[in-house]
Formats: sequence, structure tokens, C-alpha cells
Amino acid sequence: MTPTTRKIIVKASIATALSIAASLGLALTIVPMLGGVVDGNAWLMCILCPLLIAWPASAWQFRQAERLREARNEVARLHRALEVAHRELSEAHAAAVEKARRDGMTGLLNRESFLAAVREAMAEGGEGTLLFVDADHFKQINDRFGHPAGDDALRGLATAIAGAIGAGDLSGRLGGEEFAVYLPGFAGSEARPMAARILEAVRRLRIEVAADRAIALTVSIGAAVQTGGVTLNELIAEADEQLYRAKTLGRNRASFAPDVAAVA
Ligand code: GH3
Ligand code: MG
Ligand code: MG
Repeated sequence: MTPTTRKIIVKASIATALSIAASLGLALTIVPMLGGVVDGNAWLMCILCPLLIAWPASAWQFRQAERLREARNEVARLHRALEVAHRELSEAHAAAVEKARRDGMTGLLNRESFLAAVREAMAEGGEGTLLFVDADHFKQINDRFGHPAGDDALRGLATAIAGAIGAGDLSGRLGGEEFAVYLPGFAGSEARPMAARILEAVRRLRIEVAADRAIALTVSIGAAVQTGGVTLNELIAEADEQLYRAKTLGRNRASFAPDVAAVA
């Protein structure tokens, strides 16, 4: 017998005993008042009726109440489980959205989300500088040491770039061996030391391409300083042009528009 059944039997028995007591009380009060006598049959009826009616009726009622209580508990439990599932789903969704924003290899923002974040930052107005950071002679790394070594180098570059910039700055991988940084609030004069920091962080980098061999890398940087009213496309075109200039000037340097001066 389950504890619940035992509880129902006990409660129904108590209710039946109270019914019998009430029946007897009523019979012993009312019958003599009406001039009757409470005889053996009356006693029997006062006991039998509650026993046959009150016990099953109250047992059924207590059983229903118990089922209702169990159903409520189950609903509360399901509600809590639903809340947990909902929270997990929200977290998984947020993680999926975040993952979709990132480049799978380096963890930096991917091209679309980087440019979207730059567009958003530019919409707030003020100054800012866009840096295109392109690895120098990267094809040679793949050709000489293999694609996995090239992938390691890309991850190393991403770490060096992200480590060189500030917490409020944006970094992304535009594709291949091309990265970009956006420095919100940076005028050209403030962006130049930051470009120098990135160049230096990359120069310090060593990529292990074999058990006893590590190689160094360099990057070229093209900078575009945001002035009032400039569009993102114009900024990109300027950064591209300056990157080309940095490459033709000998790589391993940053190039700004002439009025901002070059950094080597
Ligand atoms: P430059 O100094 O003129 O930029 O020369 P570069 O060799 O870096 O430029 P190029 O555009 O000729 O070659 C880029 C190379 O980057 C070619 C391609 O194989 C390599 N690359 C692009 N994406 C990946 C990648 O995800 N992994 C690896 N390992 N290599 C990549
Ligand atoms: Mg390159
Ligand atoms: Mg390139």
C-alpha cells in the first residue's frame, strides 16, 4: 500500500467516524424530541449509513483531492523544467548568434559583422580610424611549410592584433590573410602609435613550423582616418589604397594618407 492510499484510508475513516458520531448525536437528540425511541435498529442505521455512504464518498473525494494536488505538483514541475529549457534555448541561441558573428579559425569578428560594427560605430559620429592589416608574403608560408602551418600563423596573427589594441577597439578577419582593426575615437595622430604597436606585436610573433624551427612574420597596414561625412565604402577604399602603398613601399609598415604621415 502506498503512503498516499494509507493517508486516504485514514482520512476517510476519520470522516466516517465523525459521520457516525454526528448521526448518533442527531438521532439521540431529535428522535426523543419527536416522541420516538432510539432502538437497536436506529443505532444500526446510524452506524451503517455513514459506513456505507460516508466512507466511499469521502475516500473518493480525498482521492480526487490527492490527484488534484499531484497534478498541480506535476504542472509546477513541468513549468520549472520549461523555464530551464527556455533558459538553455536562449543561451544556445545567443551562443549560436555569437558564433555566427565570428571567424571560425581565429575567433575574431568575421567580415560581415566587423563591417556592421564599424558602420554602427561610425553612425555615432566623431573620429575613428580603420586599419587594414595584411600578412606579408603569406603565400610563401603555405608553400614552404604547408597549409596547417599557415593556419597556425593566421591564429598567431589574430592573437597578436587583438592583443595590441584596446578593449573598446574592433578587430576582424576580412578573409584569407587580411585582417582589419577599427579604432573608435582615434584621430590619425593617435592611430599611428596603435598601428606601430600592431606592427611590433606581429614582429615579435614566432610561429613553430617544425619541432626545431620557428618563423617570424610581418604585416603591412593601410590606414584610413574618418573625417566628417565620410562613408564606410570611402573609408574602405582609402584603407585599401594605403595598404597597397605600404606593400609597394616595401611591406612591414603602416601607411597613412600623406597628411597623416607613414609609420615604419
Ligand atoms: P602580399 O605580401 O602581397 O600580401 O603577399 P601574400 O602572399 O600575403 O598575398 P597573396 O594574396 O598572394 O596570398 C595570400 C595567401 O594566403 C594565399 C592563400 O593560400 C593564403 N591563405 C588565405 N586564406 C588562408 C587560410 O585560411 N589558411 C592558410 N593556411 N592560408 C590561407
Ligand atoms: Mg598578404
Ligand atoms: Mg591579401
